[in-house]
Amino acid sequence: MSELRPVQTAGRLDRLRVLLDGAQVDALLVTHLTNIAYLTGFTGSAALLLVTPDNALFVTDGRYGAQSAAQLSAAGVGARIEVANEQQKELLSASVSDGWRLGLEAEHVTWADHGRYSGEWFPTATLSATVGLVEGLRETKDPGEIDRIREACRIADAAFAAVRPMLADGPTEQEFGLELDTTMRRLGAADVSFETIVASGPNGARPHHRPAQRTVVDGDLVVVDFGALVDQYHSDMTRTVQVGAASETQHRMYEVVRAAQAAGAALVAPGVTAKSIDEACREVIAEAGWADFFTHGTGHGVGLDIHEAPRVGTTSTATLAPGHVVTVEPGVYLADHGGVRIEDTLVVTESGAEALTLSPKTASLTAA
Ligand code: ZN
Ligand code: ZN
Repeated sequence: MSELRPVQTAGRLDRLRVLLDGAQVDALLVTHLTNIAYLTGFTGSAALLLVTPDNALFVTDGRYGAQSAAQLSAAGVGARIEVANEQQKELLSASVSDGWRLGLEAEHVTWADHGRYSGEWFPTATLSATVGLVEGLRETKDPGEIDRIREACRIADAAFAAVRPMLADGPTEQEFGLELDTTMRRLGAADVSFETIVASGPNGARPHHRPAQRTVVDGDLVVVDFGALVDQYHSDMTRTVQVGAASETQHRMYEVVRAAQAAGAALVAPGVTAKSIDEACREVIAEAGWADFFTHGTGHGVGLDIHEAPRVGTTSTATLAPGHVVTVEPGVYLADHGGVRIEDTLVVTESGAEALTLSPKTASLTAA
């Protein structure tokens, strides 16, 4: 594994502060742990982060005192750290001035949380719903983040090359998935990126089938959708393999999806709308007469979450920019023939895009 450049965590709080005015809030209470990890480098399972114009208050519990001090310091993040088990409410409410507009992360706060925050924690503040402030910052990856996603993609490619021929031996979906997952771990992944999808034969017609006891047999298309996790960053790739001889329809499904994926991926570049990438994929599949059988979005951002902004779909409003990492993953699913999906993770560069998942796009069991 080549040396990964460091992730540039310092500076993110200041970039978030710039957004507070536009969101019409005086401060933001960050409660979503992935967003807290992004802003501070903290990787524990419990924390709250209050970001004010001049300060940041990081509150965690007794399990994470030493860890949070070490991680925030290593990341160069300036925040006051408080460790409290019972006093979190008092610490945070004392840092919110009377009459402030306090932003909450609307997509991550439950109804019950909201009731507590408005009634008990911050009764003198005006609570305000914000959407996607930190998620918007997360869309643009720095070189260290791209290095981690690239490494996760490299591990997934290597693992798939190693286990792909095993599909000829008639494994169950679960056996094949387990072998793939274990191989990624052996090659250095901290974990799998998400629960691996192995969908063979008729199961392939369900885009998010979970691996089952079904044995892979001749005549199956096998959809394998998986990724590796490296230092919190995900990869995402789908390849479809034909076991035994393909029917004419299966062969055509594969070629149509491959062409659709290539058409979408070829468009990925700065200034291009996510919606136009979706349209390019759909056009190829519609020409083949299968518009109704491409039943999901074309892609999504990848980073600290496996699915994050920007979304690539029919209603997307995003425009791509350098540092965005997105997938392009069209598919066709036919009840009588199975499914084909092909997915790459791509990073948007200054001049175009680079695919980070490089496994060959062939239905062959023994891809070179
Ligand atoms: Zn995927
Ligand atoms: Zn995906």
